[in-house]
Amino acid sequence: MSLETRDCTLSKAQTDAIERGLARIGAEESLVIVTNDLQTSVRDHFSHDARYASYSTSRGGGQVAAKTVTHSSGPAIFIDHELFNLATIDANERLLAHEGGHVVAARKGEEFVSRHHMVGSQEEYDLLASVGIAIEEFRIERELADMGYEEGPMGHIDSMGWMLHTTSVDLLTALLDPEAGADPAVLREKVTSVLADFVKVLGYAAGAVVAKLAGQFPVDRLDKHGVDNWDDYVGDHWAALVNILSDIPGIGTPMTDVEIEGALARSLDWYVQWMGRVGFTLNVGVDGVSFLRSSTDDLWTARLQRAAAENALREVQEDVS
Ligand SMILES: [Zn+2]
Repeated sequence: MSLETRDCTLSKAQTDAIERGLARIGAEESLVIVTNDLQTSVRDHFSHDARYASYSTSRGGGQVAAKTVTHSSGPAIFIDHELFNLATIDANERLLAHEGGHVVAARKGEEFVSRHHMVGSQEEYDLLASVGIAIEEFRIERELADMGYEEGPMGHIDSMGWMLHTTSVDLLTALLDPEAGADPAVLREKVTSVLADFVKVLGYAAGAVVAKLAGQFPVDRLDKHGVDNWDDYVGDHWAALVNILSDIPGIGTPMTDVEIEGALARSLDWYVQWMGRVGFTLNVGVDGVSFLRSSTDDLWTARLQRAAAENALREVQEDVS
């Protein structure tokens, strides 16, 4: 391991946890950068690559705790020092085992992204890349669950209620955006970026429940709004997703290109169906690709009312705590 700290220091226990997490997943050789400014560190490290010039660490109401970039110039794991410091040593080790999983995937050439040849347009590729990222998260989380690690924070049931709520709010915000109303390409970009974040979380959550709970998501542990959101936005698409993912092994088990692309094709089909449930359709025709809101006003009005009610409740809870 090669460890750099930027404007911060680590305890011996933290350094050992980093080393243990990487070793358990098989990514001992990784470059790890612990930093007080994750966003700037990522941008600076990859200043030779324009794609990272606008890298941002904010994610729908939250902050990124770590980012692994598997760049051709060499993979690097960036850790936010403040969040790392707030977490337990066990959580520190788990975080590095997870991030190391991305390094392992890249080293084995088993990344699920960059497979442009599978689709005919950039619009479809964006969806393919989203499911690819979600599958990689699934494979890592499945491996970690099999290794005996506790559930991670991202796919945890406690964060699912919040994730469902912010996804709903972000979709409503995109739909009410005048710019998106005037230009279907802007609508597509905004909506698919919200959905990509959510499907990634589904991938995380599926990793643990496929390994431990026979694929059953513990919906009964969500609160009332959470259950309503789950039934609306996920519902029986969960079982269909788990059905596809169950055949995909943890990151420690090799997959051939044929297996990877088969899994991707099935997951992309699922994703397009699921987008229909959420209320959007990507039409691929001879004239090109179009992205449409395919759901009724009534459905979105109901979602708006539910999101407003949950917002009010969450504000009350924040005042109390
Ligand atoms: Zn990850």
